[in-house]
Amino acid sequence: MVAAVAAGAFVAAGQTMQLHQPDGNNHESTADGVVPLAAAGGAAAAGHHQQFTGVGGTAPAPEVLPVTRTSDQSDEVNNIVKSQQIEQEIAAYEAELARPKFWLPAEGRYTSGFGARWGTTHYGIDVANAIGTPIRAAHDGTVIEAGPASGFGLWVRVQADDGTITVYGHINTYSVYPGQKVKAGEQIAEMGNRGFSTGPHLHFEVWDPAGRKINPEPWLNERGLYL
Ligand SMILES: [Zn+2]
Repeated sequence: MVAAVAAGAFVAAGQTMQLHQPDGNNHESTADGVVPLAAAGGAAAAGHHQQFTGVGGTAPAPEVLPVTRTSDQSDEVNNIVKSQQIEQEIAAYEAELARPKFWLPAEGRYTSGFGARWGTTHYGIDVANAIGTPIRAAHDGTVIEAGPASGFGLWVRVQADDGTITVYGHINTYSVYPGQKVKAGEQIAEMGNRGFSTGPHLHFEVWDPAGRKINPEPWLNERGLYL
């Protein structure tokens, strides 16, 4: 009976192999002592139909087969497959934990800070490098804008789940679209010299969840990032 439950599970998994009855019980067996699986999951199960509830046919195979006495290796194969799946899930989980959650938006020379500048307020920091230098998302989030912006030429804005928004201005090109999910370090644009700009650089802003433009430098420093 226990072996017959396993047979039903194998039918559910789409296998066609046959299972030997270890105890030689002919109750559900054909004359030669072998239970045809299709029969075990169907008509031959009639005498024990309670045991087959939800097993066989199109029902999903049970996750753990409570069978210790069986003449084939299917339990071992199932256990190996399952442990491999668990290992992969653990590896993916650990990789996600180890992945940096914040990233410098660009490599280059730090050329201008946040605050008063030229009789106005500079609401970001500037990092200069060659046109085409990769611009990367500073954090995980969703692209909320990618396109033209007054003064910035082109910009990309990315919003984190907590509401923080980062701004990437004067870019030459962008490679993301509004609504796209990005991860920290993912390239979103290339450095450019568009808009009110005196040379190729990234203008980077941080808006806190209340919408205030805050100094990006300590924001980066608090996250272990230094220009
Ligand atoms: Zn700037």
